[in-house]
Amino acid sequence: AKSNGRSNFQFYNEDIQTKTLRKLTVGNHLRKALDRNELELVYQPKLNINKNTIIGMEALLRWHNTAIGAIEPDEFIAIAEETGQVNEIGNWVLEEACAQARMWQLRNYNLPVSVNISARQFQQQSLYKTVANVLAKNQLPPELLELEITETMLLDDPDSAITTLNQLKEMGVRIAVDDFGTGYSSLSYLKKLPINTLKIDKTFIQDLDTDTDDAAIANAIISLAKNLNLAVIAEGVETHQQLEFLKQAGCHEIQGFLISPPMTAQASTLFIDDLTRR
Ligand code: C2E
Ligand code: CA
Ligand code: CA
Ligand code: CA
Repeated sequence: AKSNGRSNFQFYNEDIQTKTLRKLTVGNHLRKALDRNELELVYQPKLNINKNTIIGMEALLRWHNTAIGAIEPDEFIAIAEETGQVNEIGNWVLEEACAQARMWQLRNYNLPVSVNISARQFQQQSLYKTVANVLAKNQLPPELLELEITETMLLDDPDSAITTLNQLKEMGVRIAVDDFGTGYSSLSYLKKLPINTLKIDKTFIQDLDTDTDDAAIANAIISLAKNLNLAVIAEGVETHQQLEFLKQAGCHEIQGFLISPPMTAQASTLFIDDLTRR
């Protein structure tokens, strides 16, 4: 048992070393990613399945770096949060997404673009100024920008979260609460927040057909949204069964592989052209 404990300890140390090294390596490459044009935004459509119309496009970040290889945004954004690089990257994402939304608008598509905001970005007191500047620079109407923030960001510092959300709302920018159901929002608190949409996290959608708990949670979020006069959208919808369930439950806004995976800007424009052509 003793030797066993010792080797566990060694594993633990190695694990920490490997993780630290990975963080350092990723962080170093990430520092140069913007200058080297390695970042790209892909877009995933959000559909109203009753009307069969696109109601918006979510911008999702991709990083192409040959030294690091394939790396998911969940990993490199978490590292960028720690190193602080996430602010610079987040500003680039905002700028790029708004420029794209403006291009779609000039094509006569009034499609809101949704941008994921990181915790650190949301804590910046100047966020609304940054947003205002980006909108002005791209001549984009504020209602064509939606910010996706997570439940946990609202709980860290509720007072400053409310201040920031009010500033953004006053500007006319829309707010969605992402990953809804995975945090611990107090429900009474939710009604005080100037938000527009609840986004049901894909972990509750995945096993909707077989897991009665997940089905109950999805139903609860949908009725909560209805009662609070908020829009509700489900992410990660992959099957027709899931779609049917959500339809029955009264959730008509859908995002997921069933409709489309995230696509390059160019492919997104073709997708929009296709669905909009009459
Ligand atoms: P998220 O905002 O919850 O985004 C949903 C994730 O689910 C995306 O993963 C998307 O590609 C994926 N997805 C979409 N449809 C389906 C589906 O039907 N099935 C499954 N299994 N997955 C689906 P992705 O692009 O890898 O992004 C992961 C997370 O990284 C995002 O989660 C978000 O938290 C973060 N992220 C991505 N881009 C940005 C960004 O520009 N800024 C910030 N701060 N975070 C970002
Ligand atoms: Ca999101
Ligand atoms: Ca999610
Ligand atoms: Ca997320």
